[in-house]
Amino acid sequence: VSFKYFNILFFYILFIQSSHAIECSAWTRDENKNLKIENVTLSDLETNKFFSGKYFKIVLDKSETAVSLDDANLSVRACTLYYHLTLARNYFLEQFSDTYLKKLKPITIRIEMPYSFIDSSHYMHEDFKSYNNSLTIPPSNNNKLDTITSWDFEIWFAPAKKIKIDNSVEQAAKLLGSSTAQESLRLGVFSTTASNFVTQLAQGMTVTSFEGKLHVQSLLLSLSIVTFTPWLIEKFAALAKRTVYLDTALIPEVIYHEFAHIALSKHLKLTHHSPIVEGMANYFAVAVGNSPAILHKTKSFARGLDKLKVSKDIKYESWMEDQKYAQYGFVLALLGEIKKQLGNTNADKLIYHAHTKLNASSSVAVDLTKAIQESAREIFSPEEQKIILLKLTSIWQNRSL
Ligand SMILES: [Zn+2]
Repeated sequence: VSFKYFNILFFYILFIQSSHAIECSAWTRDENKNLKIENVTLSDLETNKFFSGKYFKIVLDKSETAVSLDDANLSVRACTLYYHLTLARNYFLEQFSDTYLKKLKPITIRIEMPYSFIDSSHYMHEDFKSYNNSLTIPPSNNNKLDTITSWDFEIWFAPAKKIKIDNSVEQAAKLLGSSTAQESLRLGVFSTTASNFVTQLAQGMTVTSFEGKLHVQSLLLSLSIVTFTPWLIEKFAALAKRTVYLDTALIPEVIYHEFAHIALSKHLKLTHHSPIVEGMANYFAVAVGNSPAILHKTKSFARGLDKLKVSKDIKYESWMEDQKYAQYGFVLALLGEIKKQLGNTNADKLIYHAHTKLNASSSVAVDLTKAIQESAREIFSPEEQKIILLKLTSIWQNRSL
């Protein structure tokens, strides 16, 4: 071996050895799906000092420096996130040998992140605070102002805080009724975006003022970004008078849900909140954790919220197509029945393939059912197809599709 190659080999070995395995405490689920604190190993950190590795970097709110392993306040939170994000990534790579995921740059994870997202300046004015929520944001695009540093995929976990939901609904309504908001809405923003705006405000934000020079259209677009908002207003107003509390960063399937958004984002874009986008993310979130529901046995980490069950007998109704009800459990229950009928392996393969034929504006009744049937024809043998298509037809009938 020449000296030159020896040198390359030497640096290659040095590079391999540069990822560190460390142990830390994380919230995980035991065999009975109860949450518990457990010692876990993280194997791809760059150093043994910070939660920063090959695929993820965990930071506190707007900081660019990774959280320290010794940080007494944040290390359990950071460890929990790093651990479950790695599990989710491995799931997608192992099940679907996902080339899209392999090419992604490291993802920045912001914890205790109280600010909201806007695509022009990355962080919204500090008056716009967000709680009890998590969201996945796409890389910066043409809407970004020149003075702002560009960013890649990020996942934000807002602080958990007890909030009376009726109060925030009231605030959102008041905001929409204000002259500034009315004027903004007349600037040609579509009514669906506007109603989505109110929903989002009611679900996750406390609005203290409507000041600051925000680009209104950009604001409205940014607010339609995918978020984890498992409760609904309007349709279920009677349920709305309750205290809501959600510590998103400590609940495994919420973490899987956000990662699934990134894994599926080549086709299901992150700039649209829709029943297909949320239903698919929920389906893969329960697939990674093999859990019976989203927000199942969440102990003291969630209050006042309904869990989304995989096995639930919900019949289709046309209002379920509305993006306002993106987190309504119909799509999860429908895909869950496919899982029950076809078995985990076939269902996961089928539904993953189907997502490549869909986008955020696809409908449940027409596009989703069609994409699943077409996928069955493409990936299964003729004999298997026959049985699977029969099963699918009976599922559609069962669900009034
Ligand atoms: Zn989501």
